[in-house]
Amino acid sequence: MTEHCDVLVIGAGPAGLAAACAAAAHGAKVVLVDMQPRAGGQVWRQDLRKPAVAAARAAFAELSARPDIRCLQQAQVVAARPGQVLIEHAGTAMELHYRALVLATGARELLLPFPGWTLPGVTGAGALQALVKQGWPIAGKRVLVAGSGPLLLAAAATLHAHGAQVLAICEQAPAAQLRGFAMQLWRWPSKLIQAAGLRARLAGVPYRSGIWVRAASGDERVTEVEIESARGVERIACDHVAVGYGLVANTELAQQLGCELTAQDPHPHVRVDTRLMTSVADVYAAGEACGIGGVDTARIEGAMAGCFAAGADKEAEALRARRDHARAFAALLPRHFALRKQIHLAATPPTVVCRCEDVSLSQLQDHHDWRAAKLATRCGMGSCQGRICGAALAELRVFDSTRPATNAAHPTPVPPTPATTAHSARPPVFPTRLASLAGSFSSEGKAAEHDPAAQSKP
Ligand SMILES: Cc1cc2nc3c(=O)[nH]c(=O)nc-3n(C[C@H](O)[C@H](O)[C@H](O)COP(=O)(O)OP(=O)(O)OC[C@H]3O[C@@H](n4cnc5c(N)ncnc54)[C@H](O)[C@@H]3O)c2cc1C
Repeated sequence: MTEHCDVLVIGAGPAGLAAACAAAAHGAKVVLVDMQPRAGGQVWRQDLRKPAVAAARAAFAELSARPDIRCLQQAQVVAARPGQVLIEHAGTAMELHYRALVLATGARELLLPFPGWTLPGVTGAGALQALVKQGWPIAGKRVLVAGSGPLLLAAAATLHAHGAQVLAICEQAPAAQLRGFAMQLWRWPSKLIQAAGLRARLAGVPYRSGIWVRAASGDERVTEVEIESARGVERIACDHVAVGYGLVANTELAQQLGCELTAQDPHPHVRVDTRLMTSVADVYAAGEACGIGGVDTARIEGAMAGCFAAGADKEAEALRARRDHARAFAALLPRHFALRKQIHLAATPPTVVCRCEDVSLSQLQDHHDWRAAKLATRCGMGSCQGRICGAALAELRVFDSTRPATNAAHPTPVPPTPATTAHSARPPVFPTRLASLAGSFSSEGKAAEHDPAAQSKP
């Protein structure tokens, strides 16, 4: 099946919703695609037992009031090239041709390995939040929330609201860095109000800084977590450990399209110009895909990108000052929540790094780059397609020359993982039915002709 639209928006989080509505408001025929069953993205994910927040309700109402937006939910974009994408939806493959594209693909949690992190009961902080919103029973369970970044507070507040006994929130950043962050929040009153509101909802829950998870243990599932600080090691009995180290942008589709990424840290995001256009003509990006910035940034950038994509440049420009202000907040996050080296060193040689294919850190250290490790161990070739282990290996710099060499036979400096290189994500970005791929991009040549990674193959 082949369809055409003026503006295609991938991702129905705050950025994608704003982009779709803005483009439609300026006369574009819009298709909005998301793989989740309901719109809302990560922050506005439906909570089965709580009403949506006012901003989310307003965004959903605006979406349903616009007949010129076609919404495809539970639809995965599995491959992309300039001008068209391949979608799997309701068991069928669909080619969608677009005039302009807005990538609003958001972010995922950064999970880092430590001994015991694969035990049942150990999850990401945002992951447990998502499970609980969808009905996972947490009432009365003892949960330790740990890691880094503002998401810890939001996740803990959800768990607390659903009856969990949150033992503590353990933030790895030192108190001085957190104070420095808090002192600047007055410039973003909505953030200050949000932080104060979350803290008030978590009254009585200890918030501890300069403390991190070393290991989790238990037989069938986690029963104890070991945390460390300057004061030494503590062991805490618990039922769940929710550990997240911040967020990393979803860039796979952008990479497939050949969009340039930034590379100043191990987790690149999509590079955009002042019009939010990527390095590929008529492909725009907004929200977390362009760098972790929170819901306010996502909404403003979504609206801007939607306007630009529909040719409403004047309306887009009117949002520029608000966007720049929101992005200035985003710039604080890497500085104040930088990860300490103890977290990078938590995994021991037997610790599993690739959970899909059961590959340990010691198996990876025998290889001098990601590609060699992947070929020999299948690391990154499981169902998550390297989304978890790829980001972890990039953060840990396992293959980086700046990390002390563990194998004297391979001392040559190599780049960390393909995640930092544009053009490296090959289709499909998710496990896909063979039938979908067989007929992919049939109407205008083969996908491989436009896949730079495929072109470079011998
Ligand atoms: C697990 C998690 C929980 C979070 N919880 C909170 C919170 O409680 N409070 C808070 O302030 N912030 C939270 N955040 C931060 C949050 O990411 C942002 O503030 C906000 O949601 C960003 O909006 P966005 O539109 O850029 O991206 P998202 O909200 O991430 O939306 C991106 C959307 O793109 C879709 N998508 C991606 N790739 C494809 C594809 N190939 N095909 C189809 N659809 C695709 C996804 O399904 C998703 O719905 C959370 C982040 C994560 C990862």
